[in-house]
Amino acid sequence: MNNIWVTRSSMPGLDEYVNEIRDMWDSHWLTNMGPKHKQFQTELCRYMGVENVDLFTNGHMAIELTLQAMNLQGEVITTPFTFASTTHAIVRNGLEPVFCDIDPETFTMETNMLEKLVTDKTCAILPVHVYGNICNVEEIERIARKYELKVIYDACHAFGEKYRGESVGSFGDASCFSFHATKVFNSIEGGAVCFKDKRIGDILYDLKNFGIHGPEEVSAVGANAKMNEFCAAMGICNLRHIEANIEKRRIVDGRYRSRLEGVEGLQLNAIQAEVQSNYAYFPIIIEEDRFGASREEVFDALKKEGICSRKYFYPLTNTFSAFHGKYNVMETPVALHISKRVLTLPMYADLDMETVDTICKIILKHKR
Ligand SMILES: *Cc1c(COP(=O)(O)O)cnc(C)c1O
Repeated sequence: MNNIWVTRSSMPGLDEYVNEIRDMWDSHWLTNMGPKHKQFQTELCRYMGVENVDLFTNGHMAIELTLQAMNLQGEVITTPFTFASTTHAIVRNGLEPVFCDIDPETFTMETNMLEKLVTDKTCAILPVHVYGNICNVEEIERIARKYELKVIYDACHAFGEKYRGESVGSFGDASCFSFHATKVFNSIEGGAVCFKDKRIGDILYDLKNFGIHGPEEVSAVGANAKMNEFCAAMGICNLRHIEANIEKRRIVDGRYRSRLEGVEGLQLNAIQAEVQSNYAYFPIIIEEDRFGASREEVFDALKKEGICSRKYFYPLTNTFSAFHGKYNVMETPVALHISKRVLTLPMYADLDMETVDTICKIILKHKR
């Protein structure tokens, strides 16, 4: 059997992509907000049902520059059960991350704990829609209003989702998306920010181009985070197939659930009421004492059969050696517990049912 990777990038037909980039050989316009960039931006606004979207080289720069655009100082409340990018974006802005624990069912910010972490130094909340599970947006909104805090969602896992019929991009002051090759929707690499305040949008537009404001004015210390035309063209093509791809993922998710639901010692991802999911990942939480094998054993057993699973997210960001023991991981015990037991299984649109069955069989062989 060929190796089964944990993800497989969605791609349009080669002819479709070639047709999309053909006119670039006439225009010679390759980057710096060209026609493909504009078209992709417009189509994203329409698809996501939001007014304002700007494009970036990747999801990380989207988050990092959004924090910069808001001119924040002090503490940002976030969670450690996320990709390195979320915490790094805070630290690289000279801000102090304050780690809130996660909910054991959705793995998103535990809002019962959130308010206790607010101090007079808190300036913003940066929650993560983990695996596409939507955060408790109402409670986060309530606390943010009460203490006048900005809310920036790391929505890198949540592209294409709706909550109570509303686009996931419509919550908070801004929501940041990743279009990395490994995500539900890709533009090879890429990112986007949905934002409410047009003034933030204007600053973001400058920041992604070195802070250049006009031909003879540089008004901010920006970076280079512009999406190029080849990436925008890939995004335009993949956007035509996003609904079909999410539907295929839904079927894969259903197959996994039919095989693994109700197994003693295995916790599956919660199905959230009123969320139109994108089926981004298929995580399982393995409780060794009840299941009979550890996460590491299952990971190794799958690997031996050529199947790649991923310990995602492990380790927690508040344990990274980069931070030299600065944060106390015991303050986020649920996140620690989950990170030691979670395994995300292969999940992509074209994963076939026989392979899902094989994966489940290997896992269940280790059940006590
Ligand atoms: C992928 C990801 C990012 C970073 O996005 P890139 O496009 O890879 O820079 C940030 N946060 C989360 C939760 C992610 O999964």
